[in-house]
Parts: sequence; structure tokens; C-alpha cells
Amino acid sequence: MIKTRFAPSPTGYLHVGGLRTALYCYLFAKKNNGKFALRIEDTDQERFVPGALENLIDTLHWIGITYDEGPGRKDPNNKDSEIIEEGDVGPYIQSKRTEIYKEQVQKLMDDGHAYRCFCTRERLEEMRERQTAQKLAPMYDRKCLDLPQSEIEEKIKAGEKFVIRQKIPYGTIKFKDLIRGNVQFDGKTIDDQVLMKSDGFPTYHLANVVDDHFMEITHVIRGEEWLPSTPKHIALYQAFGWQHPEFAHLPLLLNADRSKLSKRQGDVAVEDYIKKGYLREAIINFVAFLGWNPGSGEEAEIFSLEELEKAFSIEKVHKSGAIFNLEKLDWFNWRWKKRLFNAELEKEAKEIDPNVVITEPRKDQFIYTFSDPKNEEKFQKNRCEKLLKICNNSLTKEYIDSEKLMKALLTVEEKILRDPKDIKEQINFYFTPQEYNKELLTHVKMGVDLNQATISLKSGKEDLEKLSDWNLKTLQETLMQTVTRLGVKNGQLLWPLRAALSGLEFSPGVFELAWVLGKDETLKRIETAVNKI
Ligand code: GLU
Repeated sequence: MIKTRFAPSPTGYLHVGGLRTALYCYLFAKKNNGKFALRIEDTDQERFVPGALENLIDTLHWIGITYDEGPGRKDPNNKDSEIIEEGDVGPYIQSKRTEIYKEQVQKLMDDGHAYRCFCTRERLEEMRERQTAQKLAPMYDRKCLDLPQSEIEEKIKAGEKFVIRQKIPYGTIKFKDLIRGNVQFDGKTIDDQVLMKSDGFPTYHLANVVDDHFMEITHVIRGEEWLPSTPKHIALYQAFGWQHPEFAHLPLLLNADRSKLSKRQGDVAVEDYIKKGYLREAIINFVAFLGWNPGSGEEAEIFSLEELEKAFSIEKVHKSGAIFNLEKLDWFNWRWKKRLFNAELEKEAKEIDPNVVITEPRKDQFIYTFSDPKNEEKFQKNRCEKLLKICNNSLTKEYIDSEKLMKALLTVEEKILRDPKDIKEQINFYFTPQEYNKELLTHVKMGVDLNQATISLKSGKEDLEKLSDWNLKTLQETLMQTVTRLGVKNGQLLWPLRAALSGLEFSPGVFELAWVLGKDETLKRIETAVNKI
């Protein structure tokens, strides 16, 4: 059975890089019908942060990443509920496992794979300085490697402090990384790592290996910054006589300038993005694509957690660093808002009429066809109210004509979902005609000069005047007939009309504009444009 683990040190917040590791571990386990555990690596007592564990657990829960083993809230939805541990191979919090490490390190010493080192801080510093001056990589010089037993006992009796070091074997240490392929290190270049500190607490290396072994972890998936530690870990597995797990080292996260992602260049805590209002779906989607994609192009980039569970594969994780691009997060957020909004609309449409026909003529643009116009009306009204709510209802006070406001909102639905903040400016032209120059009514590339513009405006007005049933469908039919009657290209009629109705370079299309403005206002605005010319 495949088993992965996420093993953060509780620093006070969940780093986006940590979230990516957790996500990939979760996805890999899911994809392979395996298990996923959370382990807390809190042996560095100097770095203890109160509340960090709780914060980590709550953030993972909010994001929706669940695990089979490890510490969690008794009631995950209640932030006041106590922390309990689930799983058969706990405890999952390293500070509760100190006895296990002591026992294991003793075994290493008995077998000659580890030794006590009594060197003082001063001596080690001096040694390091000497090596640096000689342009050598700083490394422990093994002064204490072969201390006679009697000397060791004397020192202990005298109360001298010691650490326990790993005796790194000579020779090459090789392993196959699932992402990076064959990797090898020369044992001679690896420092005799401290395994147990003088305070009796293990270092990361010892605790990590012992726990991964006893917790039956089959796949260690972690950030590339841990790659240099891996030969030390492999040497430890060998010293213990254990089989080592598979390793997969994930590419670094980089700033746009390719420097290592740092707090100085922006937020790195997941909770900052939660506070800013990003959707959990968008955060997951964004993080999943930091160093991985399914290789099927842009269209397929929107993935829910469930979809990722099916699509993910560790072989497709990239080797090179992944750029942390916040514009991409905004893009995912907007796409997800749309996806969730469309899902809600679909649900409502089906509630109103189980036989509604929903088509998607263009990506993400759905058309809902109801057999009864009353249902259609009800649906569109609900839809408008939803949009109004996203805009915080503040708009209603500004614009008294609420039916017109509702229709206006429908024409800028995309923009509202993207960013409702400046929506007032986006729809203002419906209520207050904009100042513009008559050149706006022309379009050289489309073949619309002032003369053509006048003909188009007048003919459009003529035909629209005759129209009594004013809706999107009839408006489109009428104006397309005008195009045929005049024998012009679509744009030659529609551009000047669109410009006349909006007074803007960019706006919704002409049928929507006329529909929102209503017959009187539409005709009035066309008249104004003709007079302008
Ligand atoms: N405690 C380490 C961290 O904070 C875990 C590294 C590993 O997964 O081995 O990232």
C-alpha cells in the first residue's frame, strides 16, 4: 500500500510551497489508492510558535486537503474543538516521540554508525574558520570519532555536553529520484551530521528517517531544498538496515526574476490569500500547476480537486523551477468564479424547469432555453439578483430604474465576476449618455466613413422604429434584415449603431445595448448621433 506524508515544521503559517507539497502528496496517494499522513516536525524547540499547529490544521481543512492519519480537530468544522490524533502508528507529533529517537540512536551507536562528539562550540567555530581560510568546504574533522571508551566515560562523568553524530560512510551514495532521475553524491563530501542534540532532542535528519520508517511511508515527496539531505537519509537507512522509501523532489518556487520565492517579494502564507478572498478552488488549481500540468493545453487548465485526483501523475512534475505568478492566480480565481456561478445557474434553471435546454455555443457561454417564457423571466430575474448581490446591492441606490439596471448587469456579467469593484463605471453609460466625437461612429478598417455611418444610423433607426416586440431575438432579426437590405457587411451597420448607443470605444454588443436602453432611448441616441455628423 502506497503511503505519503506531509511533514511540516509548524512555523506559524502554511507556506504556499508547503501547500503544494501537501497537495502533491495527497494527490499521489489518492491516485494510487494509498494513504496520506500529516506529521508535525517540531523538534526544534527554539522555533516553537504557539498556535502554529492549530493554524496549520485549520488551513489544510479550509483548503479541503484531508488526510488519513495525523493530528486534527475532533470536530474539523469547529475551531475551538480539541486536537486529537488518528492512525495506528502515532504519535504523529515528533516532540511526543523523543523516547523512540533515543532508542534508535543508541542502536546506531552500538553498531558503530554514530558517535558522541564533545567538541565545544568554540572549537567547531575555529575549525570552520580554518577550513574556510584554506578554501575547504566546512566539515566536521572527526576529532571525536575514535575516542577511547574510558575517555568518553570520564567526559560524561564530568558532565561534559555532547551531541551524537552520524558516521557517514565513504563511497558513493546513489538513488533514483522519481522526478530528477539518477542522483549521486560522494560520501567524502558529506558532513558527519548531528543526529541528537545536547538537549536530547533529535535533529530533523534522525527524526525524519526514523518516522518515515516506522510510519511505513513508501514515497517521500518534498521540496528540492531537501535534495542535499537525501544522501544523509539514505546513509541512515543503510545504517539501520532498513529499505529506504522512494523519493520525489519538487521544483523550487521562484519569483518572476527567478530568485527563490521569498516573503520580501509578496505574500507566501496561504492564509494571506484566504484573507484576500481568493476561492479555495482557485488556490488549489493555481498551486497544482506550480511545477506540473497534465500536458493537454490551456483549455484543460481548470481542475477541481476531484479532477486533479484523476489527472495527477508524478512523472509529469517538472524539473525546473516554477514561477510564482500572481496574475495567474487572479486568472484562476476569475475562471473559478465563472465556473461556480454557471454551476449555480444550471442548478436553478433545472429547478425552475427540469426540461430546460442548456447549450454552450461558445466556451463558458451558456444559453438556457425554456419552453415557457414565464420560466425564462423568472430565471433571468434570479440571475440578475445574484449579480446585484455580488455588486453588494450598492447599485440600486444610484439607479432608480431597476429593470434597466437588472438588464444592464446581465450585459456585464463577465466583468462583474472578474471584479465587481468598478462596475458602476462600466454601466454608467446606460444611464448617462457619454460625450464622444463623431469620429467614433466611423471605422476605417470596416469601411465606415461618415457618409456610410449616416446611412447606417438612419436605416437602422427606420427599421427599429417599426419594431414593437423589443427583445434580444427580435432586435437581432431586425438589424440583420437591415444589413441585407443595405447590402453592407455586418460591421458597417453595427459599428456606428453600437458607437451611437454606448458612446464608447468598447462596450457590449449592439443588440444587448438596444435591449437594455429600450426603444425610446435607443432611437433618441441614434438621432443624436445623426445630428452630430
Ligand atoms: N520538516 C521538513 C519541512 O519543514 C520536512 C521535509 C521533508 O519532507 O522531509 O519541510
